[in-house]
Amino acid sequence: MKYVDYKRVPIKHYNADERIKTLNMQTLVPYTLDEVVAESSRCLGCGLCIQGCPARIDVPGYQIAMANGNIEDALKINFEKLPFVEVCGNVCPHPCEDSCVLEDNKGSIATRHIKRYVAENISDYKDVLKVKVQDLGGHPSVAVVGAGPAGLTVAFYLSINGIRVDVYEATDKPGGVMVHGIPAFRLPREAIKKEAEHILSYGGRIFYNTKIGREVPFEKLMNDYSAVYLAVGNWKPTRTKIEGEDLKGIYHALDFLYRINNGEKIDVGQNVAIIGGGFTAYDAARVSLRLGARRVAMLYRRSDVDRPGYPSSNADEELEEAEEEKVIFDWETSPFEYTGENGHVKGLKYWKNQMVDTGKGRRQPVPIKDREYYIDVDTIIEATGQREDLSFIPQEILEKMKTTPGGDFVVNQYNMTGYPGIFAGGDITNKRKDIISGVADSGRASMGILLYLKELGKIERVPQRLTNYEGGPYSITYYEMEDKEAPGVSPNPTE
Ligand SMILES: Cc1cc2nc3c(=O)[nH]c(=O)nc-3n(C[C@H](O)[C@H](O)[C@H](O)COP(=O)(O)OP(=O)(O)OC[C@H]3O[C@@H](n4cnc5c(N)ncnc54)[C@H](O)[C@@H]3O)c2cc1C
Ligand code: SF4
Repeated sequence: MKYVDYKRVPIKHYNADERIKTLNMQTLVPYTLDEVVAESSRCLGCGLCIQGCPARIDVPGYQIAMANGNIEDALKINFEKLPFVEVCGNVCPHPCEDSCVLEDNKGSIATRHIKRYVAENISDYKDVLKVKVQDLGGHPSVAVVGAGPAGLTVAFYLSINGIRVDVYEATDKPGGVMVHGIPAFRLPREAIKKEAEHILSYGGRIFYNTKIGREVPFEKLMNDYSAVYLAVGNWKPTRTKIEGEDLKGIYHALDFLYRINNGEKIDVGQNVAIIGGGFTAYDAARVSLRLGARRVAMLYRRSDVDRPGYPSSNADEELEEAEEEKVIFDWETSPFEYTGENGHVKGLKYWKNQMVDTGKGRRQPVPIKDREYYIDVDTIIEATGQREDLSFIPQEILEKMKTTPGGDFVVNQYNMTGYPGIFAGGDITNKRKDIISGVADSGRASMGILLYLKELGKIERVPQRLTNYEGGPYSITYYEMEDKEAPGVSPNPTE
């Protein structure tokens, strides 16, 4: 079926040979204003994309604003749900685009590129938003553990509602994986700094180098604050346990990226093998090229059409960007031994897999073991996942909070755990494990915390909406309070 007869405005890429020379040079050339207006004018306003966005941002609302060149309204519409507009304009996997009605015809509306334009062209959010901090009849204190996107989002929405927020962060800067994991060539550091500073400008305090469970016991938070929001992310590496894993030159991707993002220099040599196929694997591969590797191969156990995120436009884009930089892909591969020389990794042995349909969800990789393959390597980076470390929470409290067999928290519709007053969000609760899902958790949790505080008698009223900008409301979608039932009264745990 033909909807409109003009195509998506293409996004240009900076030259791949040039961009792999530095760790900072961006991949995508930003849209110009003319391009943004042309692209957003294609939007039909049907709103299907809203269902695709985990935070239910009013996507057509900001397309219509930008089609009219109204950048300030476009920013305000995003801010109803998202205080990280520039971050998401750069790295959101944009699931909304996959549900755009134009996807199969001339290409979905480039919502992420438009979002990037909006954020990058407004330097002072405060001046545009003119937030009216609400007085809810009380100023209780809430502790947030972790200054990643989930923790900072709660800090923002609570601070602008007059709640005192203290954020405890184990490292020396805000941003979580955005700053310690995602490389600067995909996400400029100025964007994270600008958005974190803006969030904290409404009175939230942040304590760096303060790991809960090490510098401050968890029980102290329970005593000192009216509610606690846990947003500690997934920081415990999952290793392959392949023979030879302890050799020098073998890293877990999270540790590797953390060290590079914090200024360390790592000599990766000429040949690098990455084990894995998700966000982290791509970043480790592309960083290795920028550190001087000549041949970087990604070894993934499944086939290309079974890779993480596929099918989606984001999965296509990350593959395209990596292929432009000449990353090599070796699908359906199972490494089984790392070989070494003088204590340093030298090579990698692997089998090829066949993909077997077991009738239960994704096809499973099964190694064909009658033939072994070998490649020379100087460095191996395992991007084989990470999980939560909840060892800072005393066992008796953890048991009451309830976790899934995979270790994530079980939370109710307001992201409250089984322990009244302790809320959780971000990578420790949601399945998608991306920034926008953490932000969505935190929007729900912010409303839940306000309801809980009202239930405790710490505030007198709960606002209809979390935001209060000059001239608002600025969105057709916002957190509705249909039943106004406090989360502490009737927890309804869901996985
Ligand atoms: C390499 C990589 C690339 C990615 N790329 C993308 C992408 O392009 N787009 C996307 O949307 N998502 C991406 N993701 C996923 C995304 O980064 C995460 O989903 C998101 O950061 C999760 O946010 P969070 O706030 O839950 O946790 P985190 O970002 O992990 O933040 C948790 C914070 O808590 C702190 N902390 C942990 N324990 C404690 C404690 N006990 N006391 C105090 N502080 C503590 C940590 O230091 C950290 O700052 C990527 C992930 C990785 C690893
Ligand atoms: S689905 Fe596409 S056309 Fe419809 S509102 Fe969203 S961006 Fe516009």
